[in-house]
Amino acid sequence: MSVKKLEVPFVDLQTQHTALADEIDASIRRVFSRNDFVLGQELDLFEQEFAAFCGTRYAVGVDSGTSALELSLRACGIGPGDEVITAAHTFIATVQAISYTGASPVLVDVDPHTYTIDAAHIAAAITPHTRAIIPVHLYGQPADMDPILALARQHNLAVIEDACQAHGATYKSKRAGSMGHLAAFSFYPAKNLGACGDGGMIITNDPQHAETLRRLRNHGQSQKHQHVMLGYNRRLDTLQAAILRVKLRYLDAWNDARRAHARRYTEALAASGVILPGVAEYADPVWHLYVIRAARRDALRRHLAEHGISTGLHYPIPIYLQPAYRELGYLPGAFPITECCADEGLSLPMYAELTPPMIDYVAATIHAFARNTDAAGAKTDPTL
Ligand SMILES: *Cc1c(COP(=O)(O)O)cnc(C)c1O
Repeated sequence: MSVKKLEVPFVDLQTQHTALADEIDASIRRVFSRNDFVLGQELDLFEQEFAAFCGTRYAVGVDSGTSALELSLRACGIGPGDEVITAAHTFIATVQAISYTGASPVLVDVDPHTYTIDAAHIAAAITPHTRAIIPVHLYGQPADMDPILALARQHNLAVIEDACQAHGATYKSKRAGSMGHLAAFSFYPAKNLGACGDGGMIITNDPQHAETLRRLRNHGQSQKHQHVMLGYNRRLDTLQAAILRVKLRYLDAWNDARRAHARRYTEALAASGVILPGVAEYADPVWHLYVIRAARRDALRRHLAEHGISTGLHYPIPIYLQPAYRELGYLPGAFPITECCADEGLSLPMYAELTPPMIDYVAATIHAFARNTDAAGAKTDPTL
């Protein structure tokens, strides 16, 4: 290859934090001037600003995206004997949150183009025990919400959006997280909006849910010394909220940068033989991840690493084939699209600070691999 070698990391938090250092330092000093580290003023303000960003009435800060999912399920009263339907292809936390409540996770396969939950499969999975559906806006692509919301209305089910990868994405011009009864966000450092540590948020338009969630995250307290239910210690730190407030002001611009990067990848990778991510006509994704598929995925990944390009796998072993979830009883082959994504999916570098020369270099390196092996393309077309 004649192209000059570049180092392209998979994520780059340093560039963002260097640019924001003064603003973040000032926000941390504000918290130290008040010493309100737990349930402090910056948390209140961040909750108001995040709710406004999403177009919902309430936002409740918690200590992780996993907690946001679990407490949302608990706020709906879901527990032992109940079934909750979610996507087979997701991060394991979605399924763990269901298990924590004592309810049974019921998995369904994803759509072969968008890799989000396939609404057509949900109807077949509904039983008299089903209480909720958790659509996952995976990789920053919104799931097809209208058929899901229709099924939920028909069967009286709660809809809890897993928006942990989709801060700012829209579905038919509505923000991810604003369509279900509740939605969970994660501020894990590498998410589109990332804390300097763990953090999460639940959004809702329902005042009853908001009040229950404020109690659940804070020892079940309705007011000081009044514990009206079994609660937890799951609050979002004031310091993290202060940092996240600074970053929230940049989120739309960062997401626009990711969109431009995705367009550039898509143009540059045309005719490279790999399968590119599909975007549904209803969606404006925020590209938390840009995931291609290649039949010789592992060889392509090694080739990219040899040329200084780091990539990720999301997720190489389906949840139901993990030792922790053998108990669910699903066999290999249960969800063909999920397994295709596990075998062939490759996440390319994606973050706002990525540069056009880096993207062109990644694309050129993939084209070179394809020329040398003529087998980069995914062998399995799961739609056939
Ligand atoms: C990150 C993530 C979670 C969990 O969030 P944490 O903050 O790491 O607990 C849940 N679901 C999905 C789809 C995620 O990407």
